[in-house]
Amino acid sequence: MNLAAAKAALAHLDLDENPASVKSKSRDFFWYSPVLKARLDHVVADFVVSPRSEAEVIEVLRTCYAHDVPVTVRGAGTGNYGQAMPLAGGCVMHLKHLDKIREIAPGRVVAEPGIVIRELDAQTRAASGQELRMMPSTAATATLGGFIAGGSGGVGSVRWGALRDLGNIIRLRVVTMEAEPQIHEFTGEELHRVSHAYGTNGIITEIEMPLAPAYDWVSGFVTLPDFEMAAAFGAALAAEDGILLKLVTVCEAPIAEAYFQRFKGHVTPEDTTAIVMVAPHAMPAFETFLARWPAAKLIFRSDAPDWARDPGPAYEYGWNHTTLRALKVEPRITYLQVRYHGPDYLETIARVRAHFGSELMQHLEVMRENGQIIYAGLTLVRFTTEERLEDIVRIHEDMGAMIFNPHRYTLEEGGRQSADARQLAFKREADPKGLLNPGKMIAWDVPDWSYETIYAYAGMRAAQ
Ligand code: FAD
Repeated sequence: MNLAAAKAALAHLDLDENPASVKSKSRDFFWYSPVLKARLDHVVADFVVSPRSEAEVIEVLRTCYAHDVPVTVRGAGTGNYGQAMPLAGGCVMHLKHLDKIREIAPGRVVAEPGIVIRELDAQTRAASGQELRMMPSTAATATLGGFIAGGSGGVGSVRWGALRDLGNIIRLRVVTMEAEPQIHEFTGEELHRVSHAYGTNGIITEIEMPLAPAYDWVSGFVTLPDFEMAAAFGAALAAEDGILLKLVTVCEAPIAEAYFQRFKGHVTPEDTTAIVMVAPHAMPAFETFLARWPAAKLIFRSDAPDWARDPGPAYEYGWNHTTLRALKVEPRITYLQVRYHGPDYLETIARVRAHFGSELMQHLEVMRENGQIIYAGLTLVRFTTEERLEDIVRIHEDMGAMIFNPHRYTLEEGGRQSADARQLAFKREADPKGLLNPGKMIAWDVPDWSYETIYAYAGMRAAQ
């Protein structure tokens, strides 16, 4: 790697070598995981460059290719698995300046990858009364490109499923890292080459996404006396096809009382909570549904607020914001990502919960998958040791729950424990020197990896 030559060639761009800001741009929310915290805390790039256009993205890639400098692309660095961390050092390419909307049309938007999702929604709402179908709960800070390359779904998935489902991304424009970088436009089956690929095989420079009608979603907080009743309540609510929802989150007692500061005085340690976002015109139907569950109490609604302190938007209590709120109060807390599906998913959840007792606290998010209601679990874990965490993962799998392990920094280990042939094939074409976000795709480094132990990237720079 010839860093000096690369930096000299890029000196006319927005180049940052300040050690403090380079360090902060080399980190994401990896520290949610004690396992990743122990392995990645020292990781730092050599410099950060922030291109102002696709032409400058190409210039950075061409220059770094010529000088063998690794490039790790960064949106806002809110990923949880060290996705945006430059394990081998080199260049962090920060896309903060690529933040323009190119087109807003009925049902779709075309935007640059560095736009912050909440800003995108504000602009599409103002121009056309539309918004993204789904967003991460970090929409206030996360970028659209980071969501597509590093995220999976979130607020809106109760209605629309996950990002990987057909129709939830329309088109991606991608630049490769070759002697002369190429531009590709992907649709259909080709989208999967680069969506959720952590920027290991191309830089997304333009995104076309589907839009849905925007509403002044009503945040509702419901208490229920029993977790299994609450899980059934959330699933039944989401199955009401006529009630337009954006979020259904179920948090086992005492999550709300213990970790949601603004809920204090409104909930008891025995209350399980269901947190919902409902379209305003669906509120009468939602209230009708509620009346059929006499034990469920609506304790707050944002269209008629009666709490002394505004609790803020419902979605900032859901998805990984639940974990964030819990670990701010109880720092040893970490989490798991679980998928409960199949006809007996409520029974599986009940069995898992009975097995672990207070070592875990159940947090469920309703999702739609192939026309069915399923639950994603972002289970809170009272962490003790790495070995115990591994046991907890294995016991979930033995009980029929699928784990997407958030304590791993590679694509494969955080996914289905197997190589993705389409992503690997495109990496061979698009990144022949293996310089894009090195260490994140095991299939590139060690094709016959067994997945029996945690992968340790051999090219990771040692701590200084
Ligand atoms: P970054 O973290 O900067 O990047 C993510 C990955 O994408 C990295 O590998 C990066 O290299 C790559 N990348 C970024 N831009 C590009 C590009 N233009 N081309 C190619 N590769 C690129 N995720 C969810 O899916 N749903 C949630 O509900 C959710 N809730 C969260 C809540 C909290 C409190 C936290 C901390 C995280 C949450 N996340 C969630 C994870 C994360 O916030 C989202 O996935 C977010 O969309 C990532 O966007 P970002 O701009 O921060 O991406």
